[in-house]
Amino acid sequence: MENIDFDDAILEPGWEEKIDFPAIENAVNQMIMAFGEDPERDGLKKTPARVARMYAELLAGYRMDSQALINNAIFDVQYDEMVLVRDIEFYSLCEHHMLPFIGRVHVAYIPNGKVLGLSKIPRIVEMFARRLQVQERMTRQIADFLRDLLQPQGLGVVVEAMHLCSMIRGVKKHNARMITSAMHGAFRANLATRQEFLENIARGSTQLHI
Ligand SMILES: [Zn+2]
Repeated sequence: MENIDFDDAILEPGWEEKIDFPAIENAVNQMIMAFGEDPERDGLKKTPARVARMYAELLAGYRMDSQALINNAIFDVQYDEMVLVRDIEFYSLCEHHMLPFIGRVHVAYIPNGKVLGLSKIPRIVEMFARRLQVQERMTRQIADFLRDLLQPQGLGVVVEAMHLCSMIRGVKKHNARMITSAMHGAFRANLATRQEFLENIARGSTQLHI
């Protein structure tokens, strides 16, 4: 069995036993046959097992333990300027086609006595990205989770992504970037705060390349 290169510390204990690998392998095998291919030929023989392991990794967000992930990395700090973490890369799977959508997340908040360790925000993004998703819901889930965790004065999340399903099929929009946002507190109520956030993201921003 291929190993999953993953940080077990943030996965729930026994997470692997909860995945029905044979059922996924069987389904992939069925698909290969339905495509009119021979599942016994050399190149495809191990494909169902590989695909099952791959999905376990791509969809590991369902089995991440949010408490272990935060791991007491919330600190009391008297600081009430904007904290901005930009260009957090993510990879997710659109739930309509099960094809990747890939991009960046920008998070900003104005603390209310509590800040979160910097390395934790990408982990939180990962927890919500590694699921069957739609970009709008992922954006909101990241924002709501951080709001509940930090109870900040305000918080904003912007996600920009390219969706393979619209690039390689259908109308084939190769460069269409989708941008979604979720704002809470001061970021919703105060135009200047929201603008400061958006200008900070725009500054020095580069085109997405995937
Ligand atoms: Zn899609």
